[in-house]
Amino acid sequence: MLLTMRSRLFNPQLSSLCHSLPHSHKSHPSSLAFSASISQGPNSRHASAAKAQRPVALSEAARFVRTVLFLPPGVNPDDVTDDMILPGSNIVLGPYAGDAKIKDVDFVKSSNRPKDCPKDDRPEFAMLGRSNVGKSSLINFLVRKKEVALTSKKPGKTQLINHFLVNKSWYIVDLPGYGFANAPESARMDWSSFTKGYFLNRETLVSVLLLIDGSVPPQKIDLDCANWLGRNNISMTFVFTKCDKMKGGKGRRPDENIRNFLELIKENYRQHPPWIMTSSVTGLGRDELLLHMSQLRNYWNNE
Ligand code: GDP
Repeated sequence: MLLTMRSRLFNPQLSSLCHSLPHSHKSHPSSLAFSASISQGPNSRHASAAKAQRPVALSEAARFVRTVLFLPPGVNPDDVTDDMILPGSNIVLGPYAGDAKIKDVDFVKSSNRPKDCPKDDRPEFAMLGRSNVGKSSLINFLVRKKEVALTSKKPGKTQLINHFLVNKSWYIVDLPGYGFANAPESARMDWSSFTKGYFLNRETLVSVLLLIDGSVPPQKIDLDCANWLGRNNISMTFVFTKCDKMKGGKGRRPDENIRNFLELIKENYRQHPPWIMTSSVTGLGRDELLLHMSQLRNYWNNE
C-alpha cells in the first residue's frame, strides 16, 4: 500500500502538463506569482485561506512554475486551472484538500531509534533540514505555539526523533538537523544511518518536508540529502525557508535559488516533487503548506 501511495503522489503525467493547459496566463496571472498573498483554493472549505490579491505581471519565474507542476492524486492534468495552483509553489490543490486547521498539538515522545517511534499507525510528516535552516521557527509557525519546537531544542532532544500529535490524528515529526558545522565526522555518520533507517522503514511516513534555505544558493549538503531521498523514492516536499529575504541582500533572489536547486536535483526524481516558499517572519506559505499536507494526509487516510 505504501509504495503504491508514494508512487501515486507523484503523477507521471506531469511532464505533458505544460503543453496541455488551455488556460491563458493572462487571465489569472496573480495566482502564479511568487507573492505573499494567498489565493482561493478550489474548495469552499478553504475560504479562511483566501485573501484578496493584487494582480502582478507574470514573471519569468512564474512561467517556470507552470512547466513543473505537482499534481496530487485525483487531479486530471486537463482540468487544472490557474486558481488551483497554490501561490509561491508548484502545487496543485486537488479534491483531497481540506481540514487544514491546527486546533491542538501535543508533544508525545522523543525516540532515539526508529523502532521506538509511536506505533499507532497515524500518518506523519517528517521535518528535516540543515541546522539553522529555520526548522524550529517553521514548526512553531505552523502550529502557532512557541513552546512546541522549543521542546526539541532542549539539550538532549536535538539528536532524537520528536513526535508531536496534531488534532489527535496525525504527527509532525521533528528530526535531528544535519550539517552541524562543528560536529566530528563520527557524529555526522551516526546521524546519517540513524535518520536513513527512519526514512526507509517508517510505514506511516506520508511525506518528508525537506527544508532548504531559500535565501542562499544551493548547498552541497542539501543537494546530497535531496538526491538521496529522490533515489530512494521517498515521498517528499521541498519547503524553502526564509523567502522574505527577497531583495537588497547579497546573492540571488529566492526564486533563482529555488530554480537552481530544482535544476540540480532533477536527475534523481522521476517526477517533479512538490515545493513551496515559506517565511516564518511574514507568514508566507503557512496556509498553503497546511493545505498541501491535508491533501496528502487525506489521500493516505482514504487509501
Ligand atoms: P533551526 O536550527 O533549523 O531550528 O533554525 P531556527 O528556527 O532556530 O532559525 C535559525 C535562525 O534563522 C534564527 O536566527 C531565526 O530567527 C532565523 N529564521 C528562521 N526562519 C526565518 C525566516 O523565515 N526568515 C528569516 N529572515 N529568518 C528566519
